[in-house]
Amino acid sequence: MPPQLNARVIELPLRHAWTISRGTSTSKRNVLVELRSGGHVGFGEAAPNVRYGESAETVLEALSRLEPVLDGDLRCFRELSEALQEALPGNGAAKAALDIALHDLAGKALGAPLYRLLGLNPQRMPITSFSIGIDEPETLARKVREAEPYPVLKVKLGAERVREVFGAVRAATSKVVRVDANEAWGPQEALEHIEWLATQGVELVEQPLPAADVEGAKWLRARSPLPLVADEALLRASDVPRLAEGYHGINVKLQKAGGIREALRTIDVARACGLKVMIGCMVETSVGIAAAAHLGPLADWLDLDGNLLLSEDPFIGHPVVEGRIQLGEGNGLGVVPRAAA
Ligand SMILES: [Mg+2]
Repeated sequence: MPPQLNARVIELPLRHAWTISRGTSTSKRNVLVELRSGGHVGFGEAAPNVRYGESAETVLEALSRLEPVLDGDLRCFRELSEALQEALPGNGAAKAALDIALHDLAGKALGAPLYRLLGLNPQRMPITSFSIGIDEPETLARKVREAEPYPVLKVKLGAERVREVFGAVRAATSKVVRVDANEAWGPQEALEHIEWLATQGVELVEQPLPAADVEGAKWLRARSPLPLVADEALLRASDVPRLAEGYHGINVKLQKAGGIREALRTIDVARACGLKVMIGCMVETSVGIAAAAHLGPLADWLDLDGNLLLSEDPFIGHPVVEGRIQLGEGNGLGVVPRAAA
């Protein structure tokens, strides 16, 4: 009997207005998926991104087209995951929702946490960064104080006010800081910003140039004093080889890749190409964040704070202690709906 699929749109208000180089948002519309089979429920989540032409509506439409693929033996979840990837072009968020739910269900049916199914050591979890959006200096100082429990910060920067925004954060803390420009700079200004940031205790810079600027990335990589990490320029495994000349590492997200299976392939290809690996996220509930966290031991850098930016998380996920996500022994993803707890 095929598993029973339920999907619904969830409105997620944010704790603070969230500003990056592309714009500002105050809430997020994601799609929550429940996959029922053999007395178990697998949870999955789609966090659609306008950058990739997605919305909650495109996710619902894609889910209805992907649902027939799930009519197979759920114990062979890897086969089903691969069939999901092949069934439609694009639609990473919709595929991720089903792929995450399949893995949660498999873990529950087999009685093991997902990291065990993947053979990973939860003690090898890197510290996750906590993200700070673009804001006015006083608000930035307050956000840095609120981020007290997190030892590493990730600061968003845009085309304007680079030194003002970064300077306000640096004035408020001596922590390790990562920077994400979300495609805001051109090559020459990027080099100037990065040379200055290198004097400010910055660990790495994410997506300084527009994703499509391949030649600019090669030029910048040859000159940058800091590691450069591709985010918007990377969706899935097949993108990795052409990024190796322009970046030092890649930011893998389940929502871009289309789930856990494709994220694992992407990480393997990155390692074969000599690239560092960050595992990141969108604004997501503890369902999406937990799914990515189970792959955490494979990463050099983690950026899994999407659930921490929500004013209400409909799921209880894994605690973060001194920046490290504690996965515990729960089967599958190990998350439970807050309403049920
Ligand atoms: Mg990014």
